[in-house]
Amino acid sequence: MLVALLPPMVGNSIIIGANDWLLANIGSYVYFIGLDFSVLALLRFTADYCDISYVGTKWRVVVTTIIALDILQLLLNPITGHAFMLRLTMVDETVYYQLVPLAGQYVHRVVAYGIFFVSVFIFAFKTFRVSRIYVEKYLVIFLSMVFVGLWETFYIFSGTPIDRSMIGFGVFGLLVFYFALYFKPMRLLDRMLARIVSGMNAAVFFFDTSRKCIYGNDTARDLVNLGQGDEIPENVSESVAKAIGGWGGAYKEEWHAVRHVFRDSREYYLDVLVQQIYDERNRYLGAAVSVRDITAEEQKLQREQFLANHDVLTGLFNQRHLYERARLLIDENPETQYEVVGIDIKDFKIINDIFSKEFGDHVLCVLADAMRSETQPGTVYGRLTGDKFGFVAPKGMYTADHLNALLDLKLYGDDLSNYPIVVHIGMFEATDRTLPISVMFDRAFMAINSIKHDYNRRVARYDEAMRDDLIWNQTISSQLDKAIRERQIRPYLQPMVDADGNVEGAEVLVRWIHPDEGFLSPARFIPVFENNGMVAQLDEYMWRCACEILRDWADRGIDLFLSVNISPKDFYFIDVFGVIKGLVDEYAIDPAKLRLEITETVMMTDLENRLRIIENLRSEGFLVEMDDFGSGYSSLNMLKDIPVDVLKIDMMFLYKTKDQSKAQTILQTIINLSGQLGIPSVTEGVETAEQLDMLVNMGCSLFQGYYFAKPMPVSEFEERFRAA
Ligand code: C2E
Ligand code: CA
Ligand code: CA
Repeated sequence: MLVALLPPMVGNSIIIGANDWLLANIGSYVYFIGLDFSVLALLRFTADYCDISYVGTKWRVVVTTIIALDILQLLLNPITGHAFMLRLTMVDETVYYQLVPLAGQYVHRVVAYGIFFVSVFIFAFKTFRVSRIYVEKYLVIFLSMVFVGLWETFYIFSGTPIDRSMIGFGVFGLLVFYFALYFKPMRLLDRMLARIVSGMNAAVFFFDTSRKCIYGNDTARDLVNLGQGDEIPENVSESVAKAIGGWGGAYKEEWHAVRHVFRDSREYYLDVLVQQIYDERNRYLGAAVSVRDITAEEQKLQREQFLANHDVLTGLFNQRHLYERARLLIDENPETQYEVVGIDIKDFKIINDIFSKEFGDHVLCVLADAMRSETQPGTVYGRLTGDKFGFVAPKGMYTADHLNALLDLKLYGDDLSNYPIVVHIGMFEATDRTLPISVMFDRAFMAINSIKHDYNRRVARYDEAMRDDLIWNQTISSQLDKAIRERQIRPYLQPMVDADGNVEGAEVLVRWIHPDEGFLSPARFIPVFENNGMVAQLDEYMWRCACEILRDWADRGIDLFLSVNISPKDFYFIDVFGVIKGLVDEYAIDPAKLRLEITETVMMTDLENRLRIIENLRSEGFLVEMDDFGSGYSSLNMLKDIPVDVLKIDMMFLYKTKDQSKAQTILQTIINLSGQLGIPSVTEGVETAEQLDMLVNMGCSLFQGYYFAKPMPVSEFEERFRAA
């Protein structure tokens, strides 16, 4: 458009300067036609500048056609003479050619003004429509267009021979040049920044060099308890300080912190940022203070951290976090000797199964509460897994009293408050501080394992002997296969005798004649194999041995039964029914000759399935004996649920106790009960004639014990008790 402004200006100058008719004529054509191009360019510029679609529309075709027609009629003027003519005049002694407009030029004026006014109108419209920030961008051009238009019009009507309106074209051109290409409204930037800041959800204050507040946004007003319309006082920094709990690092410095404050009995986390602002030549301008409420984020973070580090049920540290804390504690206090303590609830699985998961949870929470209240500062504690808890504390911090407080759990709840929850504690002294915490706890729990089956001990310390035990356990476990193959493991028989001294059968008891260790009692290795599941392999072998013997006896006409042991763990690892049934079929023996000894713990888990297995065995003709009856805590209760053929009364009733008569009363009651239920009873552990007498009087019909014979090799048994 700037270029298009030149021809009319040049043409006009030629007219003014020409003293020859032809030159003035040429100037006139340049002027008129140039003006046509100028308004054409102006319209295009206007559309561009004001964001109106024009190029490529039908409007452009219309406008261009009109201009083309106008140019055409102007160019016909030398032939038709209808548009204008030049008249010679004198102004201040100088000769000028003055334009005399005729019909064609009026047409030209209508075209040029028409398009011009369209542009003016567009600018006017835009000026009123845009945001105030942008007004100057349009207003300046709009006003200069009005000005140029008036100036031009003035010349048309004044009849002055010299048209100076072209100066207006030049000024207009410069204004357009500046506003279109260089103008960037600074106030626009200010406004935009201010709008963003005022709408931010962080409180923002600006302070000038003399520390007076010059600006604060809405959130800032909130922070210092001002209403939305209120002016922010210059000395607001005191209120800000109060709101954020003091200017930690003076607010005259750069400073960033998260403050934890309480206001109106609520807690807040505030992210405070103080920035000092300098201009590009490093002159101080003032300070900006922003305060962001990050309470929600912070609380969420804390919740997540808590969940990641704590056990959901008890709220104690979880295993991973306990290990981390324990590591820190031990590493950061090289002078202190530490003890790692493991806590385990005895028979927790049974508690869960017999009562309910809810009751089990309750027990865990009670233990957790006990840990919370009984542990002292300097201790880290948590829940490791399931029913295993642990803590790490300076050596000697916990006396027997403390441990007893932990050991005696008080359960709330009417019917359960008397239920004895037994807790075992294992301790490991962390003399080797470089051991992983997990290994330290493993050792504490290894100590517990050593007393798990011992009712008299609740606290055990790890010692090297335990580690030796572990190694020993691993060694014999690795030797089981070979021991079976080489018949180091073999059955011993202990007779079961009636009241008249006749042998009716025998219990099959395992013995291991070890090449290095010598004679091993099952108490040494059965618990090891029960722990690692290998007991099933051993039992299967023992049952096979029993079937072999029964087969042999049947062939030789020896009519005795054998009683084999079934470990509760067997049910986890093998199909007890399938294996036993398979064996009697294989050896073609009478199932009634094979008695099966189970303990009541078999029934502690998976009751329904196990009941089914036992029922199946009984319906196949096997006799099921309830072993160690009376040694558990719910024996009588069990009796009504479990279908058994024989009660094998635990030998503990025969041991010497403080109150012999009480034990005898119980024994008598059990024998009576079994009689009334129609279940014959066997008493094991009979060692003296008096005991036998007593039991016979009580009505017991079958006996087993050292009084008759100790367990012995099969050949010896056959020699001594061959019934035939
Ligand atoms: P249990 O089933 O209660 O076996 C009876 C235990 O009492 C046997 O010990 C036997 O030798 C012992 N005993 C017998 N009469 C007397 C007595 O008059 N006085 C005393 N003080 N003890 C007597 P043993 O053979 O050492 O077996 C211990 C336990 O090992 C058994 O207790 C049983 O639970 C387990 N066991 C033995 N053999 C096997 C087996 O083949 N498989 C499984 N799963 N467990 C077995
Ligand atoms: Ca037994
Ligand atoms: Ca027994």
